[in-house]
Amino acid sequence: MRIEKVEGLLIGSDLLGANYVVRITTDTGIVGIGQSGTWGFPDATQKVVDQYATWLVGQDPLRIEFIQSYLYRMRPFRGNIVSGALSAIDIALWDIKGKHYQAPVWDLLGGKVRDKVRLHLLLAGGNPDEIRKNAKIAAEDGYTALKYDPLQAGYQDQSLARLIEGARDMAAAAREAVGLDVDLIFELHRKLTPMQGIAVAEALAEFRPLFIEDPIQIDSIVLQGELAKRFTFPLANGERMNTIWEFRDMLTAGGPQYVRPDLGVAGGITQVKKIAAVAESFHSALVTHNFQGPLITAAAIHVDVSITNFITQEFLALDESPRPADAVYRTACKRVGGYIPTPDCIGHGVTLDEEMLGKAQPVYMPTNSLVKLDGSPALAV
Ligand SMILES: [Mg+2]
Repeated sequence: MRIEKVEGLLIGSDLLGANYVVRITTDTGIVGIGQSGTWGFPDATQKVVDQYATWLVGQDPLRIEFIQSYLYRMRPFRGNIVSGALSAIDIALWDIKGKHYQAPVWDLLGGKVRDKVRLHLLLAGGNPDEIRKNAKIAAEDGYTALKYDPLQAGYQDQSLARLIEGARDMAAAAREAVGLDVDLIFELHRKLTPMQGIAVAEALAEFRPLFIEDPIQIDSIVLQGELAKRFTFPLANGERMNTIWEFRDMLTAGGPQYVRPDLGVAGGITQVKKIAAVAESFHSALVTHNFQGPLITAAAIHVDVSITNFITQEFLALDESPRPADAVYRTACKRVGGYIPTPDCIGHGVTLDEEMLGKAQPVYMPTNSLVKLDGSPALAV
């Protein structure tokens, strides 16, 4: 079997404007698809894939480890755009391998460790009343873990006291609504300085979160790791990290903490399986990241099923949206309550609906940043 064609598809997304998907066609007629998580710069990812494609055509698609290593070592450059392109290609190649062997990807990764994958729902809501209402609905729908941002609008200009009390009000709202048997995750979205992050996290500890996520910007891997030492309860980091080496550096700096590789950023299925092993050696566990929709969700589910050190999988209600942008994807990963049962599928189980593809036109996100009242750039998502 040989790779015959490598195509990039920009697909409209209700949340992000555009998703970047790679479609690889082989000379046997088997087709695989994969997605990049580098949603901020889809065109840049396309350019890297185009360059890789000139070598990929003619290669044996079953040699996934060789292909990824060959492409990664092609030039001495690293970062999200390169790893995002590699991730999309890797996920497509695993899809092809599964179809070739008529097996689910999770079976090729070592087999099933669990019968179902626990989800944490990304909860909408900008004030305590909305959080209270939405948390109750989600818990009644069967979710056992909920995640939301407790910082309220205008956080970038608030006093530390107001910032902390506003976050406590948000945290209390969900805890009141769901009691003690649903896990809460507080997502700080990289909006705080280390000094603010520690103060806010300490104030939120009384609400017993499963973990607190991304209190600070991603600029320093070492500092992200070191913050874990300062916290008295779990911290989770790493949704923008690219390689096993970056995860190793963070865990070395901070010791056990939850790690959040994104299948579309961290090198696809091949590398996230390795990141799980690196994390396991630190007695750490994975909370796989995704807010891009069904294709990345499915790629993550296959890894989640095949590893022992897994906690929860991020999930969006948009994955079940009837709107054209998300109806493009037909997936074998169907939610039942707060879980996705291990999918009985061939490959990763996601295909594209060609008719809907034409209706999901990509749009570009606005080119802007959040600024503070004094005009300076704020720390933001
Ligand atoms: Mg996050």
